[in-house]
Amino acid sequence: MAGPISNRLDVVVVGAGQAGLAIGYFLAQQGSDFTILDAAEEPAASWRGRWDSLKLFTSARYDALPGLDFPGDPDRYPTRDEVADYLTDYAQRFELPIELNSRVRSISKAAQGYLVELDNRAYEAGQVVVATGPFQAPLVPAIAERLDEAVVQLHSTAYRSPESIPEGRVLVVGGGNTGFQIAKELSASREVHLSIGSRQMPLPQRLLARDLFWYLDKTGLIRKTAASRIGRRMQQREDVLIGSSPRAAGRHGIELHGRTVGAEGSTVSFSDGATLDVGSVIWATGFRADHSWIDVPVFGEAGRVVHDRGVTKSPGLYFLGLLWQHTRGSALLGWVKDDAEYLSQRIEALRADSPTPDTEIAGAT
Ligand SMILES: Cc1cc2nc3c(=O)[nH]c(=O)nc-3n(C[C@H](O)[C@H](O)[C@H](O)COP(=O)(O)OP(=O)(O)OC[C@H]3O[C@@H](n4cnc5c(N)ncnc54)[C@H](O)[C@@H]3O)c2cc1C
Repeated sequence: MAGPISNRLDVVVVGAGQAGLAIGYFLAQQGSDFTILDAAEEPAASWRGRWDSLKLFTSARYDALPGLDFPGDPDRYPTRDEVADYLTDYAQRFELPIELNSRVRSISKAAQGYLVELDNRAYEAGQVVVATGPFQAPLVPAIAERLDEAVVQLHSTAYRSPESIPEGRVLVVGGGNTGFQIAKELSASREVHLSIGSRQMPLPQRLLARDLFWYLDKTGLIRKTAASRIGRRMQQREDVLIGSSPRAAGRHGIELHGRTVGAEGSTVSFSDGATLDVGSVIWATGFRADHSWIDVPVFGEAGRVVHDRGVTKSPGLYFLGLLWQHTRGSALLGWVKDDAEYLSQRIEALRADSPTPDTEIAGAT
């Protein structure tokens, strides 16, 4: 057990990324008694942990959280550090109550609401919002274990810059935006191969001098719900490649391969039977969700959260920032506010319906 219950709050938000901050903005406006707990030791940790040269695929016009424009030219594509600075400034400007170094170890049902346990303390909260991000545990295929120790291997989350990869041939596995961007960056200084498991539809970042997201916004596509006919079709497709394409990769001298299906020693094999000797492998193979620390029965097949626009069947327990939580925009900087506002209204409505216990639990263990 985590130690004393130090506080009883209306709402605990877990995660201080863009989703946690966006709902924090609305909770603060409501005058809610809440805190935002984040495991990291610095704000905007997910963004700071991404590779050095990362540029957003959304222009600054579409990178703002509620109440504060993203600074600078709205048509430019901000860097990783600019996003981290914006989120840090956002939290300060709206005086959001963020507790860093605060990893939540478990959430379980309590007599009134939820018990939120950390290593050294616990909270009892009437309601809880889980905003721990759409990209959690890095996913690397099991065949990676069959490569020699001499082959340098890392997941894309550990990639920072070309300097961190040894000289020589590199294989990037994964044909999403991340795989293409890392392959392109490395191609300036070494021989790069890119393994594409399933082809994604390439879309230009700009069309007729307008950002792609301008069209998605103006046509309403970005706000089509997951349950709509077009939303269902969009989800079934692999995601889209924004501003990259196999043809452009070829122009950078990147050699393309099919799906990586095997590995032995320092040799990787592909679905077309071809093989390649490699010095380094970067696995841009995605993530899986990890909600194993939440001890409330709101999960279905393969641990998927069962919810309706982030509202679970367990009253007062919500998720925010999931991929396709409600629309394609749900896990993006510029649109997470729509779900955040919706959940804040649900939170307010439930709070108005429930009696507030005002007795502090002292020294409970
Ligand atoms: C490479 C890459 C590029 C992207 N580019 C764009 C882009 O151009 N435009 C765009 O709109 N979106 C982009 N996204 C998508 C999305 O905006 C980001 O993934 C964003 O970080 C998601 O924000 P979030 O708040 O939901 O989660 P996160 O930013 O991941 O924040 C979650 C927070 O929860 C904390 N946490 C996790 N578990 C616990 C726990 N148990 N207890 C306490 N704290 C915990 C973490 O420390 C973290 O700070 C990109 C994503 C990736 C991976």
